[in-house]
Amino acid sequence: MTSRPTTSGGHRPSRAAARSADAYRDTIEALLRPLATRPVESVAVPAALGRRLAEDIHAPVDLPVFRNSAMDGYAVRAESVVLTPVTLPLAGVVAAGAAGQTPLPPGTAMKVMTGAPIPPGADCVVPVEDVHSDGATVTVERGRTAGEFVREPGTDVRTGELLARAGTTLAPRHIAALAAVGLATVPVFQPIRAAVITTGDELVSAGTPLRPGQIYNSNGIALAAALTANGVTVVSVEHSTDDPARFRALLSAATESADIVFTSGGVSKGDFEVVKDVLGPMGGEFGSVAMQPGGPQGLTVVDGVPVLSFPGNPVSTMVSFEVFARPILRRLAGLPEVEVYQVPLRNAVRSPEGRRQFLRGRLVHDDDAAPGLHRNPEAVEVVSGPGSHLIAGMAWADVLIDVPAAVTALPVGAPVRVWLL
Ligand code: AMP
Ligand code: MG
Repeated sequence: MTSRPTTSGGHRPSRAAARSADAYRDTIEALLRPLATRPVESVAVPAALGRRLAEDIHAPVDLPVFRNSAMDGYAVRAESVVLTPVTLPLAGVVAAGAAGQTPLPPGTAMKVMTGAPIPPGADCVVPVEDVHSDGATVTVERGRTAGEFVREPGTDVRTGELLARAGTTLAPRHIAALAAVGLATVPVFQPIRAAVITTGDELVSAGTPLRPGQIYNSNGIALAAALTANGVTVVSVEHSTDDPARFRALLSAATESADIVFTSGGVSKGDFEVVKDVLGPMGGEFGSVAMQPGGPQGLTVVDGVPVLSFPGNPVSTMVSFEVFARPILRRLAGLPEVEVYQVPLRNAVRSPEGRRQFLRGRLVHDDDAAPGLHRNPEAVEVVSGPGSHLIAGMAWADVLIDVPAAVTALPVGAPVRVWLL
């Protein structure tokens, strides 16, 4: 045993050497910038939800497509119902889907269903609830105006008009409009493709009984979920043992199929740090970021593919994703920015000096808000200890509480910045 500081493995890097979380995030953002330019592909409209339009889309048809009835009722000429009450003979019935070519004989009415074509010659529809009919005639009680309950073609969108702009992230309402004009496919940008590699001899998958010393692999599943929820396509989720040969093989497969690779574990100062041991010699930058959890981080470019290496503790992995990947990936996918609030703390907190701390918190809402209205958060309470292994505790959180690096203690009521998970 020696108390002498060593220069090789096992020494603690000085705090001053740690980069700020913001500076590290900026480095990653710059590295990911080329991913903003994506190839274009054509996808079926039903599969295009959440995808980003690559081109302006113009309506290929008018909407409404043809002149049709807005109500179940009786198509008439307004001039036939000027003097009321008036009883008109019934000249026919037009169902939705009928070709509707038969003209309305003057002085008669035709029964029409919502969406049925207006017979040529008719100019308004008297709703069924405003008439009396015996099946052969219809009695109209008051005068109507031309155009009433008639939907004219092209009043929603005209052929050739802009339906959705390039860059739009397709929500259900856009899918509805694309479907209504009968488009089968749309040009969209290919999403970013990510591969995930977890590491650790102790990890097993769900469904396998745990032997002594083993735990379930949660980071692979968690990262895949986080990526999917933020507009990224997950092409593979693999697990490596702590054997460098195994990790190397999975890494080369991942960089072949993905635009970005995420690894978990094997980046700190233990004896078997497979990620650092393999990627370090490949030019990877492994070091400390001044934050907790998520301090040890690695960044490597392998065959042109960025590889982000997060520490293995499950909360560290999730927080690393939140801080270093999620905002950037959302921007690249055209998704709305992560929501940030400033709210008072419900609990007093302590925080390590010189490290930005991300605590797991739950928003407390104002109970007096009108029912059904969005309630503004009133405060935030800490829901779990600071330990980076407390992944079950994190499930109760809906925000991360961002405690600045310089802060060591915050009293109850102190305003803090939080962001929605
Ligand atoms: P490491 O960064 O590899 O030293 O791992 C740190 C801690 O996180 C250890 O307790 C690991 O067992 C745990 N851990 C690493 N990877 C995973 C994973 N994929 N799922 C769950 N826990 C993990
Ligand atoms: Mg490990």
